[in-house]
Amino acid sequence: MDFVDVVVAVGVIGLLLRGLFRRGFTSGSLLMALVFGGLGLWRGLGPGPGWLVWPAVALLAVTLIEFVVAAVTGTRLPRTPMAEVKAQLLADARSDTGRKQLTLAVAPGGAVMMDGVWEGTSRRDVVMPGGGCPVCLVEEVTAELAGPDAEGLAAYRRDRAAGTNRLVVLSRRDGGWDTAVEPVRASPKPFRTVGCPVHG
Ligand SMILES: [Zn+2]
Repeated sequence: MDFVDVVVAVGVIGLLLRGLFRRGFTSGSLLMALVFGGLGLWRGLGPGPGWLVWPAVALLAVTLIEFVVAAVTGTRLPRTPMAEVKAQLLADARSDTGRKQLTLAVAPGGAVMMDGVWEGTSRRDVVMPGGGCPVCLVEEVTAELAGPDAEGLAAYRRDRAAGTNRLVVLSRRDGGWDTAVEPVRASPKPFRTVGCPVHG
């Protein structure tokens, strides 16, 4: 095995394990998986060791499945204008029977996750932005409820600017809301906004 085959084998097997055991490829690792899957096939069928074909085929199959699942769930998500989502969240948060806790996050693909805890029940809602910026939604709702100087809001902005995505956790207390930020487990990469006057 020459050096190229070692590099390709490490890449193919590493990405395959990642695809199998850590759910979800980001768009970057999806591209890497396609590149290394192709390299593995080329080396395995051509000048390199023949066994490389099998992990390369497995990697391409896992990647294809991931891609189809992402495409299907992506199109199934409701697309809602961010202004509408914001109005609904604020109306609920300001009513006496509304959420006691609200966790907001923007997934790397741009979907907005909203985990709500009410008296005796909890629910996760996910929407794709159908107009408006999802990061603005998170920041504006947090600022409206906890105030523009809330500690959690500053931490969210600072970490996002430094390249780390966060969850914002808003908890109701007497007459106001506390904020905190928590790590995102799936992928720490922030969503790259397009055409937002605030976020670029
Ligand atoms: Zn924005």
